Amino acid sequence: MAFTLGMAIAAMDKFNALIEENKEYLTDLDSAIGDADHGINMNRGMKRIVEKTHSKEYADFGGLFRDAAMTIMSVVGGSAGPLYGTFFMKLGQKLGCANEIQVENFADALREGLSGVMSLGKSAVGDKTMVDAIDPAIKALKENASEGDAAAWNAAVAAAEHGMKDTVPMIARRGRASYLGERSIGHQDPGATSSYYLFTCFRDASAEN
Ligand SMILES: [Mg+2]
Repeated sequence: MAFTLGMAIAAMDKFNALIEENKEYLTDLDSAIGDADHGINMNRGMKRIVEKTHSKEYADFGGLFRDAAMTIMSVVGGSAGPLYGTFFMKLGQKLGCANEIQVENFADALREGLSGVMSLGKSAVGDKTMVDAIDPAIKALKENASEGDAAAWNAAVAAAEHGMKDTVPMIARRGRASYLGERSIGHQDPGATSSYYLFTCFRDASAEN
């Protein structure tokens, strides 16, 4: 079993649809502790990504995720564009010309993506950012890879959801939310929420294809 290029393309389609469906919710979350643009930004970015990916044929993960990265960086300002852009760029660079990969190795490539996000955002686990959903998800994916793809992706999604919910009591240390200090407590981080959605899309694409 493996994660394939077809699954990655399907995951981008699903992520676009899920963001579209939840754009108001993401904006509500961001209006509590940020500048109320996360839903709108991610919606614009993902729409443009799937327009791009549907207009081309891809031979490998590297090409797909490079296009995703360049597209979201060019159409989304604020922090979401550069952060998701870096995530997709590093992920694609690590996967290179592969078009199929074992889930355990896909986890390593996701880790590269996350490292890029953490160095750009100067963020660590516990800062109330997207890192808090992605880091536990990658750990769970890697640790459960030997149990089979479905079990690994289910564990990753459960960990991402847990990580997302764990941002509620945290004090924000990065981004606009950090200006609020203790007033950021009690609100779920919008970036962790959209990152949780991304992992549900990887899981669903893996299960269906
Ligand atoms: Mg914002």
